Amino acid sequence: MQRRGAWGRSVAVVAVAFVAGGVAAAVVLPRDAPTTGAALDVPGVVAPRSDPAGRSEAGRSDPAGTAPAATPAATAATAGAPTSAPPAIDLHSRSTTDPASLWVVVNKIHPLDPVRYAPDDLVQAGPEKVRAVVAHDLDAMLAGAKRDGVTLTIQSGFRDYAYQRTIFSNMLALHGREYAESLSARPGFSEHQTGLAVDVGSASRSSCDFDPCFASTDEGRWVARDAWRYGFVVRYTKENRPVTGYAPEGWHLRYVGRELAGWMHDEHVTTLEEVFGIRGSATYE
Ligand SMILES: [Zn+2]
Repeated sequence: MQRRGAWGRSVAVVAVAFVAGGVAAAVVLPRDAPTTGAALDVPGVVAPRSDPAGRSEAGRSDPAGTAPAATPAATAATAGAPTSAPPAIDLHSRSTTDPASLWVVVNKIHPLDPVRYAPDDLVQAGPEKVRAVVAHDLDAMLAGAKRDGVTLTIQSGFRDYAYQRTIFSNMLALHGREYAESLSARPGFSEHQTGLAVDVGSASRSSCDFDPCFASTDEGRWVARDAWRYGFVVRYTKENRPVTGYAPEGWHLRYVGRELAGWMHDEHVTTLEEVFGIRGSATYE
């Protein structure tokens, strides 16, 4: 399994800075540079990522995780940059396969293991349940939105294996397999089964709940811009569909903790697959 850590990336950034500007210490990376890469809505094909700092990112847009990552030492040596940049985050510090880990990666080729896993620390969050570790930041996020005049509702939290099976069966019956697979996860393959995912809704336009138009509501725009501050990632976007295999869901938030969510925001990485070099897929294999 390929992993790319913050240490390697930070060294690569410094190295490029030396080449481009000659003075590494003067370089300040834009934190909120817009992404301009066009999305290719074709599963399995990844649009090139925009590169606000002019960085070369071997493997970053490789959903299969097979492209070679730039080695920190080689990159730094080429440009004569220092090799002792401190790590911003240790991406190896938590498991990505333990279903109880904050950083577990669940997608169409990485089901929960065991497949009927259920967390043992669920707490009530409005009408739904989430893991205890999520609850505090979820409350903080709702309060933060409220301060900005935005009222988020909680539409869905933990869903157990049996309930997910019911949802998926209903989607199949309603929409057929191809469309159902793009919208809903099979039981054992849903982030909701981890207790770390929340679907939020729009108090101002509830007709957009679970609908693509959620993204254009005040609530949808707020979570796209600010959910990361509270440790949540908007897991499925138009841009990252080739990596996740899911249609955009501006309402589906996955809790990963403030440290990782902040790092992903700063690094302009939107998928856990890219963070950890883990494959995603539009199909079950
Ligand atoms: Zn969801």
